[in-house]
Amino acid sequence: MKTELESMGLWPGSIPVHNPMKMVSLWRFPPQPELIDSISDPPSPKYFQLHPFFIWKPENDLMARLRNNDTLPCIEGCAQARVASAGVGRPRVIVGITGQYYLFSSRLCCKVCRKRWYADNPLWLEKLSKRFTNLLLAILTYKKAICKSVMDELRRTGNDMAKQIMEMMHLKYERAHLAFLLTCQNIVDGEAGKYDLRTITQFIRQETKPAPFGEYGDSDGWNGISVSAHYLTDCLLHEYKHQEGAITKLLQGKRC
Ligand SMILES: [Zn+2]
Repeated sequence: MKTELESMGLWPGSIPVHNPMKMVSLWRFPPQPELIDSISDPPSPKYFQLHPFFIWKPENDLMARLRNNDTLPCIEGCAQARVASAGVGRPRVIVGITGQYYLFSSRLCCKVCRKRWYADNPLWLEKLSKRFTNLLLAILTYKKAICKSVMDELRRTGNDMAKQIMEMMHLKYERAHLAFLLTCQNIVDGEAGKYDLRTITQFIRQETKPAPFGEYGDSDGWNGISVSAHYLTDCLLHEYKHQEGAITKLLQGKRC
């Protein structure tokens, strides 16, 4: 994630990047490590354990188009707010319908009141215009983070989605593990074909066994998350209350 953000000039202290291609997506997808050429050692499992991530940096030029001429609001509500980046942000894992992804939010500060917060703070998100928040595909509360795609599916089917989601996420992990093993196998086969000194190669191979891929939930590996039916119900209730609040406000406004 860090390397990717640096290459885009988004990591604090990195060199500004000229973007002739007008890169217009906040999504970043992992590379396909199977395609990396000329590796004679088994690849690190790390390359196979990357998840997509979504960059959420409302203060950055990347999102300037959405700001129009407005200034970003201060979380404390300062009248003449001056909101700026305040260092490295934080990743937050989101449950999506096709697997998990990370939401990488910037750390912000208001130069007037000196208050600091993360760009995924639900209190602050409330203050942003719909133009911004509509782009954010996740529903965020202080404790929970879930993709809108999961909520849509939950409303549509009304089933116990937790089991389905967990199955799908475990399958994804299994597939990544298989991709890793196949790549290791591919390297061994390639080496065996390259040299006739099969015995020596096999001898060396034993010294360079692939690293273990790790379990589904390993925090320094795949970092797979768990979702319960209870969690999903809570998210649905939260969204319902949120919408109810918005509608009530709208109706009260009309009455006045
Ligand atoms: Zn302020």
